[in-house]
Amino acid sequence: MDHYARSLRNTFTGDSLNRASRRRRDTQWLASRQEDETTRFVPLWKSRNLFAGDSFLQPVLLSPYQAREHLPEAESITFLGVRDGNAMFAVGLSSPDDTPPPDLEQLGQFHDLRQVAALLEGQDSALLACARAMTYWHRRHRFCGDCGSLTVSAEGGHLRICASESCRQRHFPRTDPAIIVLVTSGEHCLMGRKPMWPTGRHSTIAGFVEPGESIEDAVVREVHEETGVRVREMRYHSSQPWPFPTSLMLGFTARAHRDPIRVDQDELEHAHWITRGELEHGLRRGTLGLPPSVSVSYRLIEDWFDAGSAVPLREIDPVL
Ligand SMILES: [Zn+2]
Repeated sequence: MDHYARSLRNTFTGDSLNRASRRRRDTQWLASRQEDETTRFVPLWKSRNLFAGDSFLQPVLLSPYQAREHLPEAESITFLGVRDGNAMFAVGLSSPDDTPPPDLEQLGQFHDLRQVAALLEGQDSALLACARAMTYWHRRHRFCGDCGSLTVSAEGGHLRICASESCRQRHFPRTDPAIIVLVTSGEHCLMGRKPMWPTGRHSTIAGFVEPGESIEDAVVREVHEETGVRVREMRYHSSQPWPFPTSLMLGFTARAHRDPIRVDQDELEHAHWITRGELEHGLRRGTLGLPPSVSVSYRLIEDWFDAGSAVPLREIDPVL
């Protein structure tokens, strides 16, 4: 399996959406699409997506008729692309009284995508993640970072331009790269735990890439800073958009000598080397937990575990 195929297996990836970026400047075409009955709108209220159903959730996509009354007062409208011949837009909504629009509440409930992603099909999760990322960016960039004036949306919602005639700075959507790495040494893998996590949860080492830093250097630095372990060798595994709110997770595997662990207490509560047998024992007894199954960190752990176990991790992990 190559890197691209691995990334496609991650939640929030693999959408069949054609982003049709050349259409973003075609204001006439975009306006006509908003009126076309085959078009669909992905509504977001306070960065939450709208879903119908209880145990199995279906995203609610609005027709132009259902979206019409919300468009004039929407915080943002972003052209996402074309899927199966239908134009798709994200619509960021707000309400003065801090309650969801009543007509949309009749269609479903607004949920945090991260909390419900495991209940969705792959393509839907990618579309909803893209819509969430874009509406969040619009909300956080209403003012120019250069001069403080208001900004206005342009190019189908993929650009904001400062409204001040003397500035006119152009602001583009941003993604924050973060590395996440499964470090192994022989039969052991390195797992850490942050104090705010649910009881027992352990995961791989992660951190943001800093300005002026390569992602490889970030892997070496984060592992050493958080645990004192020196990475000797690394390989890129796969990536995953993580719009909570703006990250792109870059997954790696790495090898290290089994150095003594020296935990950075500002970052981690605890870290240790663990074997597959110890992980299985902890999961079966309920004394250990893993990150959400939709995360690339889970996939890194799963790929390592399954490579050396007769029983797949997903048959052992009681949370799934
Ligand atoms: Zn400005």
